[in-house]
Amino acid sequence: MYIVQIASECAPVIKAGGLGDVVYGLSTELENRGNCVEIILPMYDCMRYDHIWGLHDAYKDLWVPWYGGAIHCSVFCGWVHGRVCFFIRPNSGDNFFNRGRYYGALDDHLRFAFFSKAALEFLLVSNKRPDIIHCHDWQTGLIPVMLFEMYKWHGMWNQRVAYTIHNFKHQGVAGANILWATGLNNDAYYFDYDRLQDNFNHGAINFMKGGIVYSNFVNTVSPHHAWEARYSDISCGLGHTLELHNYKFGGILNGIDYGMWNPDKDRYIPNHYNQETFDIKAENKKALRERLLLSQDEDKPIIAYIGRLDGQKGVHLVHHAMYYALGRGAQFVLLGSATNQEINNWFWHEKNHLNNNPDCHLEIGFNEELAHLIYAGADMMVIPSNYEPCGLTQIISLKYGTVPIVRGVGGLVNTVFDRDYDANHAPEKRNGYVFYQTDSHALESAMDRAIGLWQHYPKEFRELALQGMDYDYSWKDPGEKYLGVYEYIRA
Ligand code: ADP
Repeated sequence: MYIVQIASECAPVIKAGGLGDVVYGLSTELENRGNCVEIILPMYDCMRYDHIWGLHDAYKDLWVPWYGGAIHCSVFCGWVHGRVCFFIRPNSGDNFFNRGRYYGALDDHLRFAFFSKAALEFLLVSNKRPDIIHCHDWQTGLIPVMLFEMYKWHGMWNQRVAYTIHNFKHQGVAGANILWATGLNNDAYYFDYDRLQDNFNHGAINFMKGGIVYSNFVNTVSPHHAWEARYSDISCGLGHTLELHNYKFGGILNGIDYGMWNPDKDRYIPNHYNQETFDIKAENKKALRERLLLSQDEDKPIIAYIGRLDGQKGVHLVHHAMYYALGRGAQFVLLGSATNQEINNWFWHEKNHLNNNPDCHLEIGFNEELAHLIYAGADMMVIPSNYEPCGLTQIISLKYGTVPIVRGVGGLVNTVFDRDYDANHAPEKRNGYVFYQTDSHALESAMDRAIGLWQHYPKEFRELALQGMDYDYSWKDPGEKYLGVYEYIRA
């Protein structure tokens, strides 16, 4: 099958969070199964060019219709750890992708509407006719709309679209100018509850809703989150739309790419280990402490947090976990970045406050290499999310024998099974700690059990970590499921 992934991220060249990991990991799995996969991405100024090999011109003069005129673009092609990627660079004064960051500009709607249009235009003029176009998140929600309303009539009549929603919080709610810019134009037609009109703001269009309405298949990234999306307010107003389209909506659990995330061959960690050589993990703990100037205290576990510092991730509980861990005689390591200025200032304040504490390190920013060392060196990972469509940090932690302590929401429910209470899994199949409420007592109860086990029953704790490593959350199973979806919508 010929599959084109269109997304705003692909790890490790462009990565702000899990979306990047998913686009890379899924593409690799599909390719390993004998499919032809290409990835279309924006060419950001701030992406990691050191992860692209053989970057070259692929299409020199791509003219993308935009408002009444057209914008000249260049398309480059290169290999990102084996995957063929096309990067679209608009050569206009708008500087759509030269902003020093991936997201968070005032004109994000225009930037990604343009990218979506340019990606389709590129497929059209370069005569690429994939069997499947797989789009991700709000940034590419307009692709199926433009494909089935416009490009179909220009010769792309045989393509099918799968649309994956990684986060319902960001939907791309914008004004009518997007319709004029992209050439969809017809306001009266698109401002319709059954098409693009936002379910609450009737004067706006909603990119993600467009993706749901027009795609041949829609999914979110775990079965439990698919249920939450339909039956709770977590889908931020799109619940009714999902209900109307439930015949083509489901949940497919994300995997991780064990080529990139594997303690047995991870190139960013100093000491490789697997289940048989698990005790070598302790060497990475030493290396992590050395790197972060923490005290080498054998009696203390390291509890870590890696992730965006964002309301979604339960930052108030992350903050509480830090002080609770220190109070319980553990060390705490945090790696996170915040786009919200208040949260950013808050954690910088904490960082300064704890600067001389030999048991705590806060690293504020995005650092892929350090993340690998933390997964390998920490004993536990705390993930107290408010909501979590899938969550990759717990899946990576399990692979690295780092015991996850999670709040029971979204994909966390599908992947972490409480050591003491999970009724659906035999004791030897349990792999972490789960709490449910959003208050600090709930978090403490789970952390208390985890730290207690580490301190008083080290053999049992080791066993728990090994049971986590037993789980196979590779792309094998999800890859098969996505292929099933592709086959289904082609038929
Ligand atoms: P989300 O997509 O909501 O941000 P996920 O748990 O699905 O969360 O994926 C997070 C991914 O991003 C993981 O690979 C994690 O290691 C990585 N990550 C998050 N924050 C950072 C950071 N500050 N530095 C390095 N990697 C990070």
